[in-house]
Amino acid sequence: MPAEYLPLEKRKELASIAKRIVTPGKGILAADESTGTMGKRLAAINVENNEDNRRQYRQLLFSTEGVENNISGVILYHETFYQKDDSGKRFVDVLKEKGIIAGIKVDLGVVPLAAANGEGTTQGLDGLSERCAEYKKNGADFAKWRCVLKISDTTPSVIAMKENASVLARYASICQQNGLVPIVEPEVLPDGTHDLARAQEVTEQVLSFQYKALMEHHIFLEGTLLKPNMVTAGHSCTTKFTAHDNAYATVKALQRTVPAAVPGITFLSGGQSEEDASINLDAINKFEGKKPWALTFSYGRALQASVLKAWAGKKENIKAGQAELQKRAKANGDASIGKYAGGVAGAATGESLYVANHSY
Ligand code: 13P
Repeated sequence: MPAEYLPLEKRKELASIAKRIVTPGKGILAADESTGTMGKRLAAINVENNEDNRRQYRQLLFSTEGVENNISGVILYHETFYQKDDSGKRFVDVLKEKGIIAGIKVDLGVVPLAAANGEGTTQGLDGLSERCAEYKKNGADFAKWRCVLKISDTTPSVIAMKENASVLARYASICQQNGLVPIVEPEVLPDGTHDLARAQEVTEQVLSFQYKALMEHHIFLEGTLLKPNMVTAGHSCTTKFTAHDNAYATVKALQRTVPAAVPGITFLSGGQSEEDASINLDAINKFEGKKPWALTFSYGRALQASVLKAWAGKKENIKAGQAELQKRAKANGDASIGKYAGGVAGAATGESLYVANHSY
């Protein structure tokens, strides 16, 4: 029993956190944009990227009435994790009072991998155990670490797949020892002209490297979540595929690589429009076939694009921004159980949210 070196109490705690995050009808709001990434989002609506504006925006999100009906967890960035609302209550406590689990982004960003072909790895292992202990003490119950893989004629290289799988496994091990459920995120970027079959092939390769590394590190899989890309054709592919095609390719890739012990898969939105992200998630859940894990969302852009647009940094628009979050959270909550009928429109619904070579 390799993962049994973790004390039983810790295993129980991790498994119960992971299970709560993937409660049917709920998913994760990824609000862990780094200061630089948040700056790009705010620049698009002409709002200055300062600490208080970032705080005001996150306050809008977290104080949205009924958000807990479809959001089980929120991923925070270090700054937000220690910020407070206007009444002086820590955001972590605002979320807890709604029954929402607080998560924290613990990676320190992507850096180039010298041996590889324009590829990268993600840094942040130094001092990670101490940081995790501190976050746990202050109310976090799960963590996120994002790695990126790129598709081209020569990538992903074996070294990039091995290195990223290994760093994610080390991170997962450190999180679990500190009582945090690790969200393992090996994102295959949508950049490129490749078709759906190539995206599926690469996703299968990347995930098989990933689970080999997690097993080698004796990770307690019941206390983890996977955050993968959905399998979709490259952003510049000229052939169009349906949501059903995407669902087939995604479920197949996951069936072939992700152990049934993993409680849930929380997809990133990866530049899909808000509506596409909901429709594809719904199609995945409607897809008939073996699916031993919960299949839900952990969206950043696809939950926030309309909110940002409707809010535009103005006090009088806070309610309008919150109404957009309620709509999108409900649409994705429904999609997570295969009950999204489609057509929920908002300020930015159909817009592509694609960003080339995206960083978070
Ligand atoms: P997107 O949903 O915007 O792709 O991002 C989610 C996320 O947390 C990526 O790390």
